[in-house]
Amino acid sequence: MSPSSTAVDPNLPPASLFIGGEWTEASGGATFSTENPATEETICEVASASADDVDRAVASANAALDGDWSKMSARERGLLMWRIADALEERIDEFAMVETLDNGKPIFESRYVDLPTAIEALRYFAGWSDKIHGDAFPVQGPFSMAYTRREPMGVVAAITPWNFPLIQAMWKIAAALACGNTVIHKPASYTALTALKFGELASAAGLPAGVLNVVPGGGSEVGGALVRHPGVAKVSFTGSTDVGKGIMREAAETVKRVTLELGGKSPNIVFADADLDQAVKGAYNGIFYGKGEVCAAGSRLFVERRVHDELLEKLVERTGRLQPGDPLHPKTRLGALVSKGQRESVLGYVGIGREEGAEVAHGGEPADVNGKGYFMQPTILTGVDNSMRVAQEEIFGPVLVTIPFDEADEAVEMANASIYGLAAGVWTRDIGKAHAVAAKVQAGTVWINQYNWYDSGASFGGYKQSGFGRELGRQALESYTETKTVFVGK
Ligand code: NAP
Ligand code: MG
Repeated sequence: MSPSSTAVDPNLPPASLFIGGEWTEASGGATFSTENPATEETICEVASASADDVDRAVASANAALDGDWSKMSARERGLLMWRIADALEERIDEFAMVETLDNGKPIFESRYVDLPTAIEALRYFAGWSDKIHGDAFPVQGPFSMAYTRREPMGVVAAITPWNFPLIQAMWKIAAALACGNTVIHKPASYTALTALKFGELASAAGLPAGVLNVVPGGGSEVGGALVRHPGVAKVSFTGSTDVGKGIMREAAETVKRVTLELGGKSPNIVFADADLDQAVKGAYNGIFYGKGEVCAAGSRLFVERRVHDELLEKLVERTGRLQPGDPLHPKTRLGALVSKGQRESVLGYVGIGREEGAEVAHGGEPADVNGKGYFMQPTILTGVDNSMRVAQEEIFGPVLVTIPFDEADEAVEMANASIYGLAAGVWTRDIGKAHAVAAKVQAGTVWINQYNWYDSGASFGGYKQSGFGRELGRQALESYTETKTVFVGK
C-alpha cells in the first residue's frame, strides 16, 4: 500500500437511517456526530434512531420475511451473498479508510485484516446457505417417519461494538442471512459509518428491501427497543459483559433467543520450553494488535518464572519499537484509542495498577502524535498479582500485565481464576503439555504457539461471563435457525 491510498474518496453515508432498502431520516431529524479519534475532528453527522424508527425497521424486516427474500432458493441466497462480498471487495480501500477514520485503527489493519475478514465471513456463510437441512428418522406410533426442518428464526437484531465494526457485523449478518433471516443492525455509536455504507452496498448488489436495515442511535434507546420488541425473534449481541447481562434480563420478557459475545481477560501462558522469540511475538501481538481494544486480547501474560525476566526484557525491547502514529500512514501499527473516554479509562487502570503495587516496565502514559488524538503508549505492568484489579478487570486497551508461575497446574489455576473465559494462549514445545493445558483452560478458544488468530470455519465465543452461543463455523448456524419436527402419519 502506498501513502496515496489515503486519497481514496470515503464516500460518507448521508445522515440517514437505512430502512426498507432506502435512506430515511430519523424521526424528528435527530443526528449525532462521529469523531475521528486520531484528529479529534468531526467526520460527519449520523442519524440517531428513536423507538418509532425501530418500529419502522421491525415492520420492514418482518415484511421482507414474506417477500422476495423468502421466495429465493437457498442457492440463490448464497449466490447473492457472494455478489455482495464481491461488491465489498471492489470497494475495499474505501471501506478500509472509513473504518480507520471512524475507529482510529491503523489502515494496515483495516485494509489487510478487517475488510478481508469481513469479506471472508460473507463468502463462508454464503457457502452454507444451501447446505442447512434437517434429518428424517423413524419414530414410534402411527407414523411412517418424522423429519426436521431448519427454518429461519425471523427478524434478527444484531448489536455490535466499535472495536471491529465491520467484522463483528458480518459475523452476525452473514450467518443470519445464510439461514434466511432478516436483520436489523444497530452499530456502535462511535463507529456506525461502515455499517451504513454496507447496508446501501448490499442493497445495490440486489439484497431485497428490508432484509438488512441499519439503525444507529443510543445504546439503551435503540438497542433496548430492539431487545424488548415483540417483532424481533433473536438478539445477537457483542459488547461488554454489563450490557450483555441487561440484555439477557430484558430478553426474558419475550423469551427471545440470545447470543452474547462479551468481555474477556484472556491468559497467554508461556512455558520455559517455548520458542521464546516466537512467544515474545505472540505476547506482543496478543495485546498490542488492535490497540488492545480486542475482546480476546491476551491481556494476562503468565510466564514460567525461570524465563520471566529474559522474556520480559525481549518484550520490552520489542515494545519500545512500537510507536503510536497517524492511523492513515501505511507503516503505523498502533493507532488512536477509540475515544477520549476510552483513553481516560485505560490510563486510569495504569494508575490503579500503580496503586496496587505494580511497576510500569514500559509506557503507561498518553502519547503525542501531532498534538491531537487519543493515543497512548503501549504499556507493560509487572509485579502483578492475579488478584489485583488490573489482572481481573477488562482494561480494553494496550496494557499487558505479566505474572510469573512455577508449575503448569498453578498457571492453569490462575488462568481460570477469572469471571471471564473467552480465549487463551499456550506456548511450549512439549505437545503433551500443550494439549493438557488446552483441555484444562476454561476458554472458548485456545491457541497453541499462536495468538489472536481467527477463521470463519472455527467457532468463536465464551465460557463463563464471556457469554454464550458461538459465532462462526457450523455452530453459528444453530443459533440462527429454529428446528421444526414434522410427524408423517402412515
Ligand atoms: P458496549 O458498551 O456493551 O456496547 C456494545 C453495543 O451495545 C453498542 O452498539 C452499544 O451502543 C450497544 N448498547 C449499549 N447499551 C445498550 C443497552 N442497554 N441495550 C442494548 N444495546 C446497548 O460495548 P463497547 O464498549 O462498544 O465494546 C467493548 C466491549 O465489547 C468490551 O467489553 C469487549 O470485550 C466486548 N467485545 C466482545 C467481543 C466478543 O466477541 N466476545 C468482541 C468485541 C468486543 P452504543 O455504542 O450506542 O453505546
Ligand atoms: Mg468515530
